[in-house]
Amino acid sequence: MADWDLLLTNARVATMAASVPGYGEVEDAALAISGGRIAWVGRREELPQGEAAKTLSLEGRWLTPALIDCHTHLVFGGDRSGEFEQRLEGASYEDIARAGGGIMSTVRATREMSADELFAAALPRVQALAAEGVATIEIKSGYGLDVDNEIKMLDVARRLGEASAIAIRTTLLAAHTVPAEYRDKADDYIDLVCDELLPEVAARGLADAVDAYCESIAFTAPQVTKVFRAAKRLGLPVKLHADQLSDGGGAELAARFSALSADHLEYTSSAGVKAMAGSGAVAVLLPGAFLTLGETRKPPVDELRQQGVPLAVASDCNPGTSPICSLRNAMMLASRLFRLTPLECLAGTTREAARALGLADDRGTLEVGKRADIAVWDVEHPRELAYWIGTPQLAE
Ligand SMILES: [Zn+2]
Repeated sequence: MADWDLLLTNARVATMAASVPGYGEVEDAALAISGGRIAWVGRREELPQGEAAKTLSLEGRWLTPALIDCHTHLVFGGDRSGEFEQRLEGASYEDIARAGGGIMSTVRATREMSADELFAAALPRVQALAAEGVATIEIKSGYGLDVDNEIKMLDVARRLGEASAIAIRTTLLAAHTVPAEYRDKADDYIDLVCDELLPEVAARGLADAVDAYCESIAFTAPQVTKVFRAAKRLGLPVKLHADQLSDGGGAELAARFSALSADHLEYTSSAGVKAMAGSGAVAVLLPGAFLTLGETRKPPVDELRQQGVPLAVASDCNPGTSPICSLRNAMMLASRLFRLTPLECLAGTTREAARALGLADDRGTLEVGKRADIAVWDVEHPRELAYWIGTPQLAE
């Protein structure tokens, strides 16, 4: 019996291990895989004696951990290109809202579609991410906004994982926006989420985490607190859409609940950054939404760095504010709009993205024992992954 299932040689490896500075580059490297896990990685000349069932020479290509998109809403009905066009033709947000547009149009379309229709619409989005080196995708619910439709969305997300080679992590985001039938009764909706939806989702094992949108146009900090307490009681980790359009103390709230991540953070204060620093929460930056909304206030990247808060980057793929089904584009935008370095962009879509999903011990770096999720690139250096605009370099 062979020692390894697959041996990759003549490769250049960026391990992205946290224990070494930079990319963790290994020239003239070999990487052995056994049982879907990395069994050995290092300089080829130091490879221990062993037999591989299959050996592949990579002809000097670069290996990085496969990319991880740790924040998407890619299961949804319809799209919002109509209102995108109307806005650019001069219609105001008010005009569009009066005509039934905005997030409520996505909720209506998502509710109207069957699970099979939602699956068929979402699969090409998963495949588009896979084609650029993504092996793990987080998918949130949040357009169903009632028990049956939120469960339908999570079910579809789980099925996308079963039907493809991509690992899907699901997040219940029932506290995304107040559904129309609960207008002016947001507290009643939160009760429904905490008392009925969350226990049902937990019982069915449909969610890996629970998320909420803390914002003046969504839910208050006390309402989110209720959701987080209910999630914690059920043993589910939490995440938060925090401080995107105003400083609502979202970063502090996420820190208080030891959230896996706080996402967006454009308006996070210094106190919020400091709170995050002690909590282990990852700052997930979403430049696609920043770009689409024409925001000018940037997340406090320098302060996050100074405080040692881990930085991740995600696509936020969604029909309203971030119609970007490309993590590579998100990396490109994070470097241009938020001044993240190419190294931060790659760490933010591998190691730190894994951390933002609670998977830091399992994937996100090329180290012994981790999942053998590997991307092979036709580049001269992995810094190019954030550098090129719209040029694919994935070799396989
Ligand atoms: Zn989002």
